[in-house]
Parts: sequence; structure tokens; C-alpha cells
Amino acid sequence: MIRADYHMHSSYSGDSDAKQESMILSAINKGITHICFTDHQDFDFPVDEECPAGYFEFNTDQYFFDVAMLKAKYDELISINIGVELGMQEHLAESNDVYVGQYDFDFVIASSHLCHGKDPYKASFYEGRTEKEAYHEYFQSIYDNVKLFQNFDVYGHLDYALRYGPTKNQNFVFDEYKEEIDKILHILIDNGKGIEVNTSGYAKGMNGPNPCKDIILEYKKLGGEILTIGSDAHKPADIAADYDKAEALIKECGFDHYYIFNQRKPEVMKF
Ligand SMILES: [Zn+2]
Ligand SMILES: [Zn+2]
Repeated sequence: MIRADYHMHSSYSGDSDAKQESMILSAINKGITHICFTDHQDFDFPVDEECPAGYFEFNTDQYFFDVAMLKAKYDELISINIGVELGMQEHLAESNDVYVGQYDFDFVIASSHLCHGKDPYKASFYEGRTEKEAYHEYFQSIYDNVKLFQNFDVYGHLDYALRYGPTKNQNFVFDEYKEEIDKILHILIDNGKGIEVNTSGYAKGMNGPNPCKDIILEYKKLGGEILTIGSDAHKPADIAADYDKAEALIKECGFDHYYIFNQRKPEVMKF
């Protein structure tokens, strides 16, 4: 059984109003023994009506203070770590590195919620070109980022754009993207970085996690070892969502263990 949830949000994220304590209580109820808060810190995110300035940024000192209180309170019931889901953009490589260095994070997820400044969550990202072209650009932008920035532990939801394309992952054929995905995976593996298995893909109509099974298999084939698992829950009910399906799939990919992180160091967890 998977007993860790290493990707979850709270009201520190602009798109969640969940109290941290409610996330902790839900995790305990579901038999989870290790969690890590990974709220959105996505600097310089494009501003519009839905997304005012600073929407995906939080006060990190306050965050550390709040999590420390809860960590002490629930110490005997669950291990609570403190992480961040850090938004990647090429021009932020240096300032993100300074930011991560300023705090004592246990775990840093690098995520691409933007692709060369544009938002794959929005329909406009796909307009005027084929879905395939849009997905190619998405993977290219991840490659551009991992060349510049490596102060993270795992790459988050590596095929995130597939959640939002016009036909999602229905027409996704791994071989068509293998060249650029392999380039990304080689950099991750050569630098000892992991990838996360983000189980929210199941509920988002993908019939699988992000990234998809083919990418997890390729990571394994190329020598990748470090997988973390997270629900990407933005509310208590979604903690550990679809963990049974994810566990079966990860085992099919040849992994008999997964990882958590303490103080930025990977630690093995057995199923
Ligand atoms: Zn979010
Ligand atoms: Zn994300």
C-alpha cells in the first residue's frame, strides 16, 4: 500500500481554500503516514481576471511557521514535511535557485504550468495549431527548463499539458514525442532527479496518472530510480485519490518501491 502523499495544496495556494489541518486529518483517516505540503510558488505568472497578481505565490515564512505548529501537534499520528511546487520558467532559473536556497525545504517539485510564458490550461494555447504541435512545444519547454535549473527533487506531472488539450491523452502516442522526452529524462537521471506519479490524472479524465505509463516505463528503462507519489489534492477528499490504481500501474512498470524526501534527501518506502 502507498502510505505517502507527496503532492498536496492548502489555502496557501491561490486555487485552494483547504485548511492545512483538514488536509492532515483526511490523510490520517485514509491511513497515510507521510505527507508533504507542496503549495504553489509560481513567480511571474501571467495576470488576468481569473488570476490576479501574486495568485500563485505565498508568504514562505508564515508557511513554515504554520506547518511547524501542525507538525508538532500531530507528531505521533503522521509525519508532516514541508515542500513547494515551484513553477518553472526559463527567465526564473536564477531567482528560483536563490528562493529555494533561502529555505529549509524537505522537498521541491519542479512543475511546468506555463510553456514559454503561455498557459496550457487555457484553450488559447491550442488555437491555430494542431494538438500535437502544442504538446511538442510543451515538452520542449520542459527541456529548456531542466537545462537551466536543477535545484529540485522531482519533476511534477511531466505530461501536464495532456490534461488540457482538446482530446487530452486520447491521441497521444509516446513514440511521436520520444526524442524530446528522452532528452528530458536523461538530464533528470544524470542529475539524480526523480519524477512524480501524480494521481489526479485519473479524475481529470485521463484514465491514468501524469505522467502516463509509457513515460514512467521509459524513465525506468533509461535507469531512473526515484518515483514519488502524490494526489495533487486541493481539498481533503482528494488526498490519496486513486492510489490503488496507481500502485498497480507502478508495479507493472517494474518498481517495487517509491520514495519520500526528508531534508531534500530521498528515502525508500516499500509498498
Ligand atoms: Zn493547483
Ligand atoms: Zn501542478
